[in-house]
This record gives sequence, structure tokens and C-alpha cells, in this order.
Amino acid sequence: MERKTMKGVLKSLPQEGAEYREDLPIPEVGPRDILVKVQAAAICGTDQHIINWTEYAKQRLTLPMVFGHEFAGDVVAVGSDVHELSVGDRVAGETHIPCNHCYMCKTNRRHNCANMKIIGVHAPGAFAEYISFPADCAYKLDDDISYEIGAMLEPMGVAVHGVSAGEVKGCNVLIFGCGPIGLMAVGAARAMGAKKIFAADVFDAKLEIAKVMGADAVLNTRAMSADEARAKLLEYTDGMGADVVIDYTGNAAALQQGFGMLRKNGTFIMVGLPDKPIALDLTDAIVYKEATVKGVTGRLMYETWDECIDILKNSEFSMEPVTGGVYPLSNYMDAFNAIFSGVPGKMLLIPGK
Ligand SMILES: [Zn+2]
Ligand SMILES: [Zn+2]
Repeated sequence: MERKTMKGVLKSLPQEGAEYREDLPIPEVGPRDILVKVQAAAICGTDQHIINWTEYAKQRLTLPMVFGHEFAGDVVAVGSDVHELSVGDRVAGETHIPCNHCYMCKTNRRHNCANMKIIGVHAPGAFAEYISFPADCAYKLDDDISYEIGAMLEPMGVAVHGVSAGEVKGCNVLIFGCGPIGLMAVGAARAMGAKKIFAADVFDAKLEIAKVMGADAVLNTRAMSADEARAKLLEYTDGMGADVVIDYTGNAAALQQGFGMLRKNGTFIMVGLPDKPIALDLTDAIVYKEATVKGVTGRLMYETWDECIDILKNSEFSMEPVTGGVYPLSNYMDAFNAIFSGVPGKMLLIPGK
């Protein structure tokens, strides 16, 4: 490659904000790495932590760092030990870099590797023209999948992993949180044959999109009290409660409410991350209900990815209502500000624009 520098968004200082730079070095390609020209990237909650320099970011990042980890693009170079991919392949990136030698990796649970590294957090990310990352983290895309959708497969994988774990076919499902992942989960629950889908959030604009994605009824849990919300849900489910509750918020009040709306013997899937310990009456929430509680993180490498493609190609699921905006990479701050002002949906950044 002739050029040695690229454009990208760099987090260089331990404070709010980031910098758009045109002089970043094009990353080196190790023997098991591939170099990808990024065609589309998407903004995640993690990136909001990084740009706002929250405690989460402070504890994890070593600066300077190009961040961003949801992306798709074209392979432009491969390392000397990469034989499964070639220049010209279209790929999306799996955020989680597995070590490949721990017990979890060796027993086909690489997504839950004991020594996990994260692209855009521990290793340079995708808000740039080029990213170099391990070939193990590339998921090959066929020509039917656009780069924009490719960039949204990673969060869709979180949504689908949660819904899949809930075994929702024929079930009444309550989904808490209608950020991009929760919205994709509503669509995935529909695609997987859920009976009725209920979506809860505190923003009406997000709940409107949940309806478009397939929610039968929505609950604005800010506009009504916890008792009112529970009464509504019971009314919708013939007094039973939800068979499956999936939480994408990690919010204490949402988790407490969610357990209150779960029927006896139901399944609770926890995907959202509480930022501190939360209080829960385990006797009523879990023991007396004989509830099943499962934690879900990331996506299976790569069963969930295949599942996402299957849903995209063989169901009504559309990513369009979940796409909040598309911005040139240089205008990254406008995209972040749109998120901060409550604009619903996933924001995409395009380096080539
Ligand atoms: Zn993410
Ligand atoms: Zn491992």
C-alpha cells in the first residue's frame, strides 16, 4: 500500500470528546491479522462511554486509542498465516477477540473467553478508514448483505443471542429496553415465532419503532407506575404474566419490574449490564416462581451470526426502522449528539463519505 496515513476518530485525552485526525498511521498487519477498509461502522453504548470518558472507559482504555467496534468492510491485506480469507472478501467484525487457548475457547465458547480482549477498547477500533484485527474475528458477508447491515450484525447478535436463549417460540415475551438492540430483539422474537411481544421503555419514540418491529403492545414505564405497568401486562396475558422476560437495560427498576411481570416458572434473560449491585427480593422474584434466570453476553462465534443472517434473509425482519441516522465519519460528533438527545435507532458512520 502506498499511503501510510488514514483518517479516523482518536481518543487521545482522558476527558470528554475525541479528535478527528487525518494523519493516523494505517495499522500494521500481524501474521494472523487482516487489514480491512471500513465501509460502515456503527455507534454502540460502549462508544458513548468512551466519548464521555466515564468510569467504565477510564478503567479499560489505554490512550491514545481509535475506538468503535461495530463495522463492515473489505479485506485489503491478509497476514502471512491467514489462509481462510483473501483480499476482496467482504467481512463484518466480531468485537470479542478470544485467546483460543483457555477452557472456554477450547470448549467452543469463545464468546465467553476467560482472557477476552475487545476491539475498540483494548485494541485499535473501527472509527477509521482501516482496521487491522485478528482473522478469527472476521465474519464473511455475501453480496446480499450491505455494509450498513454488516456493521449492525454485531449488536443484532446480542439481540438474537438473548432472544434465542429465551426459547421464545409460542411464548408471551416482554422485552425491556428499546435501544437499537432491544428493537432488534423485538424483530428477532417476531421472527422466532413468539406468540405476543410486549416492549417496555421510557421513550415513546422508541416504543413507536418497537411496534413497527413487531411489538403487539408497548409499556411506557415512565408514564405509568410499576403497579400500573404490571396490571397492563397481566391484562394482556390473561393474568399470567410474561413467559419470558428479556432485559436489555441493566436498569435496577426495570429488572425489579421485569421479575414482577414474569409468570411462575418463567424464564428471565439478562443481557443489559447493571452498573452497580441491585436489590431484588429473590424469594418472590425467583424461588417461589421457580424462575429460570440466564445471563447472556455477546454472541456465539459464529452460530449467532449465522442465525442473524438467516433472520435477515428468511423473515420479515428489517433493519431499516432501527437505523437512526447515517453520518460521514468526520461528522461523528453529530451522530453522538443525536444519540444523546434521544434520537432512537442505531447511528452509522461512513469513512468514505
Ligand atoms: Zn457494541
Ligand atoms: Zn479464551
